[in-house]
Amino acid sequence: MSTSFRWVEQARSGRARAGHLHTAHGVVPTPTFMPVGTVGTVKAMTMDAVRSTGAGIVLGNTYHLMLRPGAERVRALGGLHRFMDWPGPILTDSGGFQVMSLGPLRKLDQDGVTFSSHIDGSKHRLTPERSTDIQHALDATITMCFDECPALPAAPEVIAQSMRMSMRWAARCREAFVQRPGYAQYGIIQGGTEAELRAESVRALTGIGFEGYAIGGLAVGEGQELMFSTLDATTPLIPWDSPRYLMGVGTPDDLLGSVERGVDMFDCVMPTRAGRTARAYTERGTLNLRNARHAVDSRPISPHCDCLACTCHSRAYLHHLFRTNEILGPMLLTWHNLAYYQRLMRGIRAAIVEGTLEAHAAWLRAQWAMEDWSPDEMPPPDIPPVP
Ligand SMILES: [Zn+2]
Repeated sequence: MSTSFRWVEQARSGRARAGHLHTAHGVVPTPTFMPVGTVGTVKAMTMDAVRSTGAGIVLGNTYHLMLRPGAERVRALGGLHRFMDWPGPILTDSGGFQVMSLGPLRKLDQDGVTFSSHIDGSKHRLTPERSTDIQHALDATITMCFDECPALPAAPEVIAQSMRMSMRWAARCREAFVQRPGYAQYGIIQGGTEAELRAESVRALTGIGFEGYAIGGLAVGEGQELMFSTLDATTPLIPWDSPRYLMGVGTPDDLLGSVERGVDMFDCVMPTRAGRTARAYTERGTLNLRNARHAVDSRPISPHCDCLACTCHSRAYLHHLFRTNEILGPMLLTWHNLAYYQRLMRGIRAAIVEGTLEAHAAWLRAQWAMEDWSPDEMPPPDIPPVP
């Protein structure tokens, strides 16, 4: 049973699209949010819990997995799907972003990057070929090109040079990629916030030809307005029938604005990281559950959520767990935040399909701007008597 990798449109609303991504490891409705499973685990979550939120695809990390446990070990143990018990599609990033973040621990040349492990200082090298081989060994459903992501702000010449090197690397990545039915490799569009450089990058990548296109080098400190204007200049240039993935983004508001600009796939550590630091995402913005005002609040975090934290526990209990540094706190709140992100994406997807995206987006934005639910709007639940 083999399937060809493809994205099939279901509905559109302006530049926003709803569709299905067909892969060797299943079909994913888009737009979609991919929980980040850096070292082969979505932190604090069982894979059953990840599934229960409605996630269809997760992300793994080449840099972290090549250091521990090593790509060859993952391959010997049946690949990343079996190793982490996620039979669905997995996208692996190329390691480019993490290696570039190492600063003085890395040395860049035209052929690749030599770096010292952040764990034990041991020397490693990543090249376009090596990164592609590692992702093959991991059995990634979607392999990402190895690229350089310059920190912003940077001079246009610096961004242009870096982008052109990434485009030469992209051709080498494509050369090294082993094509298999249902598997894909995405090229990564670079060029900072310069529309002309982004256009040049799209031309270079579509000239090589990939199954999908990612927009990299954003959400690195440029701010939402510049990110959106860069998307406005970039997404219309990407072939309509190719999936588009905005890397490392973002807040709920970022996701909505990017879907409106034609993006299909997202990943971000925000919901999982926030879940470990007592921050809850809700329809009415964020809550800090360490805050004393939650100490005796018997209501759930959100009246709209069917996650374990909201169906079985009160804000007061979550508050207590974080105040006592209990491990269950991060577990429950990560679950809740991922459930919120998936619910958000389901709602946006449904609105595109039903042709009501504009009204739905206005409603979402109005809700985010509102204060937390008042006790009148969300009374405490009736506690059943102990039998
Ligand atoms: Zn919840």
